[in-house]
Amino acid sequence: MCSGRVDLEFILRAFANGADGVFIGGCRLGECNYITHGNYHALNMALLCQRIMEHIGLNPARLRVEFMSAGEGILYSELVNDFSKAVRELGPLGSSENLDRGELKSRIGEISKLIPYIKIAKREKLARRLGKGEDYEQVYTLAEIDQLLSEASSYYIDPAKCQACMTCLRRCPVEAIEGGKGLIHVIDQDKCIRCGTCLEVCPPRFAAVRQVSGEPVPPPLPAGQRTLVRKGKEKAE
Ligand code: SF4
Ligand code: SF4
Repeated sequence: MCSGRVDLEFILRAFANGADGVFIGGCRLGECNYITHGNYHALNMALLCQRIMEHIGLNPARLRVEFMSAGEGILYSELVNDFSKAVRELGPLGSSENLDRGELKSRIGEISKLIPYIKIAKREKLARRLGKGEDYEQVYTLAEIDQLLSEASSYYIDPAKCQACMTCLRRCPVEAIEGGKGLIHVIDQDKCIRCGTCLEVCPPRFAAVRQVSGEPVPPPLPAGQRTLVRKGKEKAE
């Protein structure tokens, strides 16, 4: 697989499935055969993922990205051997970090839900082509990632304002919104990836979607109470 296809999701999934280390090998920077230069993308993804790993308590040394040409077999074997040795010294995943498998899986699961949010927030940085001499360790800092993740908002549909226009339901990229014609819509918080699209697309005259930060999201309206009663009809009844 081209290193340009490397994604946070793949790396985190490998750790969630118990990999002790992840090694990403790509073509030399600046020597990609295609205009996409996907190896810069892989580098950015790996650097960002290392800080995310730190955030959840995993040693970032369990992830390494290296670049080499197809003719550098010896270099490749040296790098892989070196990485294998480093991972062996770290021990099984979570052991040197004092994290048990269940806790680790749950932390990775929570972060994985935020991948779209992280990628949107960091899209400009992720598009950069880092120079060979740059201090890669400082491209993404732990403080920056801690702040980004602490600011991740949830979204809630105010049942008193929702007019069942279905715009948010149609635009949600992960089908996290339940609703339908004549039904007040609700967000399934377990499916929501916090992209903020529903907030953007809810017509301003309804303004039914609310951003929630630093407080619990109110519980969803029970399924039996979601029929929308329009104001005029309410009076007529
Ligand atoms: S923020 Fe809104 S649009 Fe985005 S995933 Fe969550 S419910 Fe769907
Ligand atoms: S876009 Fe707004 S008003 Fe329309 S269904 Fe969604 S939350 Fe309700």
